[in-house]
Amino acid sequence: MTRDNLKIYRAEMLHFLADPGVGSEAASYEHFPDGAMIVKDGRVEKIGHARDLLPDLSPELEVIHHRDGLILPGFVDCHVHYPQTEIVAAYGKQLLEWLETYTFPTEREFADAAKARSVAEIFLDELLRNGTTTALAIATVHPESVDAFFTAARTRRMRMICGKVLMDRNAPDYLLDTPETGYQQSKELIERWHGKGRLRYAVTPRFAPTCSDAQLTKAGHLLREYPDIYLHTHLAENMDEVKWVQELFPDCNGYLDVYDRFGLLQKHSIFAHCIHLSAEEFERLHQSGAGIAFCPTSNLFLGSGLFNLTQAETSNVNVGLGTDTGAGTSFSLLQTINEAYKTQQLRNHRLSPLKALYLATLGGARTLDLDDRIGNFQPGKEADFVVLDYRATPILSLRLERCKQLADKLFVLAILGDDRAVKATYVLGEEAYRRKSNA
Ligand SMILES: [Zn+2]
Repeated sequence: MTRDNLKIYRAEMLHFLADPGVGSEAASYEHFPDGAMIVKDGRVEKIGHARDLLPDLSPELEVIHHRDGLILPGFVDCHVHYPQTEIVAAYGKQLLEWLETYTFPTEREFADAAKARSVAEIFLDELLRNGTTTALAIATVHPESVDAFFTAARTRRMRMICGKVLMDRNAPDYLLDTPETGYQQSKELIERWHGKGRLRYAVTPRFAPTCSDAQLTKAGHLLREYPDIYLHTHLAENMDEVKWVQELFPDCNGYLDVYDRFGLLQKHSIFAHCIHLSAEEFERLHQSGAGIAFCPTSNLFLGSGLFNLTQAETSNVNVGLGTDTGAGTSFSLLQTINEAYKTQQLRNHRLSPLKALYLATLGGARTLDLDDRIGNFQPGKEADFVVLDYRATPILSLRLERCKQLADKLFVLAILGDDRAVKATYVLGEEAYRRKSNA
């Protein structure tokens, strides 16, 4: 080993090996109160107690020690719209009106490549400020918006999935493609970006109401031509939307069946929201290996409903957390956990802090089928991680003094924490963000 490609980190560390909601919670994670991690060439070489790992290392090696910090795997955001960065906190609408009033006019601006580049840069920096190192992102209908996103992600070496929106009806003319142009442009983007470094492509029909039969058919063709690409869309977010889908596709047996009939249900399919689904639909999601992005801040903000996490667990469907900004109200996965907890309270279900942090890390990685690369600190994984600061704010500091157990500390950190609690974010073992002041 040479010194150049080796990095040593020391802090409290936590990562998950399994879903704490399934089987033994105690066996689902590893916690090192004074941990050390050795990173070689951007990958985890070893993790353990500092007392076990550090004495074997050459004393000349620098140890980067984050006191009062907790190192977790980088957060995974399973559903987010980067072009909606500027319309977070837009007042007063539910889903369908919200799209018309705020989303579509904003997305129109992304025909301009310079605009797309500027927002992509701001968006990715915001993710890093929040400790998020991987996201499944939606662009706009314009291929330029995807080029801008992937170019900015490549510069930051972040593991990202993105795709061009497919939308050929029920939206303003200025945002429509056609089944043929949507297919061709997606194909060119797949060839240009999919599998290049840490980047992956997602075929992205906006949602069933904005896609004709011909367009959904073409989307299915792309999935068969490129078997390892993703399918990313919305499903059963809002009751009016569900009714509309039934009117538009009267032959289909429910909303999920629309995607199913066009061959869009597969292991690499991620469906955002999934609030208004039957037990049979959850079962079908499980059979297909598809995953769900649970987006609580958005679901509350747009008044969409309360996701049934218990049903997803019972049906053994992979679930990750999504911020869904701009309908979501925070880029922070900690704030997303905060609201996830409240949605489950309203359903009489207790979301434990361990389960919540699992969803934000390994659970998200599993949902995106990237858990062989990211999501925890097993040897060989890519060393993306976040350093959270137990003393980020006076109230956090004060509150944590009363916490004795790990789970209590994690809960307080998730409920009171946000971007201020992120001290630093690392991508492939290199510092990608560091908070300036101890605000
Ligand atoms: Zn969305």
